[in-house]
Amino acid sequence: MEEPTVVDYIIVGGGLSGCALASLLRRSLPNSSILVLEAGQDPGPEHDVVTIFGGFALQGSALDWHFQTAPTPSTANRTHTLVHGKTLGGGTVLNYGGWSRGDDPDYDAWAARLGGDARWSYAGLLPYFKRTESFYDTNASAEKHGFDGPFKVIPTNASHASRKYPLRGPLEQAWKEVGLRRNLDPFANRLAGLSDFYEIWEDGKRRPSHLAYPLDGVSVRTSTPVSQILFEGDGTPKATGVKLSNGQAVNARKQVIISGGTLQTPRLLLRSGVGDPSVLSERNIPLVQALPSVGQQYYDHFALYQWFKIKDPSRGLALGHPNLSDPAFVAGMPTDVSANEGLPRDILAKALDEDGVVGAEREALLQPGRVFVETLIVYHALAPGFPSDGSVVCASTLLTLPSSRGRISLSQDIESPTPHIEPNYFTTALDRAALIHGVRRVLKVMLGTEALKDYIETELPPPGLAPLTIESSDKEIEERIRAVGVAHHHAMGSCPMGKVVDGDLRVKGVQNLRICDASVFPNPVGGHPMASLYGVVEQAADIIAASA
Ligand SMILES: Cc1cc2nc3c(=O)[nH]c(=O)nc-3n(C[C@H](O)[C@H](O)[C@H](O)COP(=O)(O)OP(=O)(O)OC[C@H]3O[C@@H](n4cnc5c(N)ncnc54)[C@H](O)[C@@H]3O)c2cc1C
Repeated sequence: MEEPTVVDYIIVGGGLSGCALASLLRRSLPNSSILVLEAGQDPGPEHDVVTIFGGFALQGSALDWHFQTAPTPSTANRTHTLVHGKTLGGGTVLNYGGWSRGDDPDYDAWAARLGGDARWSYAGLLPYFKRTESFYDTNASAEKHGFDGPFKVIPTNASHASRKYPLRGPLEQAWKEVGLRRNLDPFANRLAGLSDFYEIWEDGKRRPSHLAYPLDGVSVRTSTPVSQILFEGDGTPKATGVKLSNGQAVNARKQVIISGGTLQTPRLLLRSGVGDPSVLSERNIPLVQALPSVGQQYYDHFALYQWFKIKDPSRGLALGHPNLSDPAFVAGMPTDVSANEGLPRDILAKALDEDGVVGAEREALLQPGRVFVETLIVYHALAPGFPSDGSVVCASTLLTLPSSRGRISLSQDIESPTPHIEPNYFTTALDRAALIHGVRRVLKVMLGTEALKDYIETELPPPGLAPLTIESSDKEIEERIRAVGVAHHHAMGSCPMGKVVDGDLRVKGVQNLRICDASVFPNPVGGHPMASLYGVVEQAADIIAASA
């Protein structure tokens, strides 16, 4: 079939946002032609694309861009590998399926950054969050939950009658011992506390965006990288279409929408002449529109993974032991509770002083109940190099509200789809204080509680490092984080609302060009990004359709 060369809407990138947006626009604008251009391939129906461990195996495959960052001085000059879906469905084909929203102040800060644009406040987004979910408990509050959206949102331990991880009881008790309260509904504005871990796996199958949001009636071209946005006009430049990497042009009658993801959207803008004029002139790229913030405020939920050795693994407490061979245990991520915690006020205030955070931003962060770290204990080693025979569990502690900011720009070869990434993780006093505090809490829970003393023997450090204990100093914990801390694959914020796009997601200073993906998040949200992002896309579709 001949490929269209003129359509109404071109969406660049068929990942989480691109596919969901195309589907929603098709529904609202049935007479418009919509084309999705995706650099990666169609993942097909293979089993591997579906299961959680199959997803791990895809990291580094043809479905993963597998970007390498620049050496990062704040993390012992290490280069970080960033997993990033290169496939129809984007990150949703590789990701872990965890589902959580941020706190209401996280989104209210978005609205504030847009001069009080209530559409992007928690209250403004809530109807869209609800549209995305089919919450498993139909008796839950209809004010907070949706019941007929594309994603079945369910706690891991409720997905199958037999999916009861044996360490849950002692673990819950251990968190209680260290003073963490139970949070029965983390979707009711506040994440803080110990809650069930929610996911969107259905019968052990993932729900990639291109399947959750049907693409009937949408033209989709896979293995079709876009190399540039095309503009015309001298006054306010107007996006007219795109140039593909094979040199072919495709024109858009109405809009070009970039959904290339946080790591690639700024690269495409820069390559097309939209960005910092000094950077563009250095690279001999003709300036279309000066927007110095393109690529400047990128962040991720920086994290530390730790491993803990189980006492007497023959009891069958973690995956790898034959007692846990029921497939239900791997019907999603093998974890069941999520611990979300704040920082003691004195530690927080000192870090904010050191970072010079003042005014409304400071007040918002000092509000009681803000969550700065999330910890999950996964009942499997997960990483190569640690035994997966049921003798080890893995703890992931991530910064929910990182304040360090990285930078994304063009690589040496300006035509290369690989961006130059300087992540700058862990550079603020707030990030250091929060992650050190979070890791200290994990050490206390795992190694210093009555509830777990018969279950956990010791921390198993990565090769060449000494184990951390409850006696470890802040300095030792900080050194560990610098030595092995990693991104959680939750890149956000490289083309933020308020700076690069306006509240209608229009790229500032040009016509007919929008961005719709995780790059538009103006500041971090505490939960894992998918739930927030699908809500953003739902709202974006309404905004775009209303202006059609
Ligand atoms: C390993 C992993 C685990 C994760 N786990 C979770 C989790 O448990 N819960 C959660 O909430 N989130 C999770 N995430 C994050 C979540 O998947 C991402 O936030 C989400 O996919 C971002 O969506 P996006 O639309 O911004 O970009 P993506 O989904 O990355 O889509 C961008 C798409 O654009 C394409 N593209 C880029 N440039 C071009 C171009 N020039 N031409 C054509 N196509 C282009 C890319 O190939 C890609 O398919 C995880 C991510 C990863 C990688």
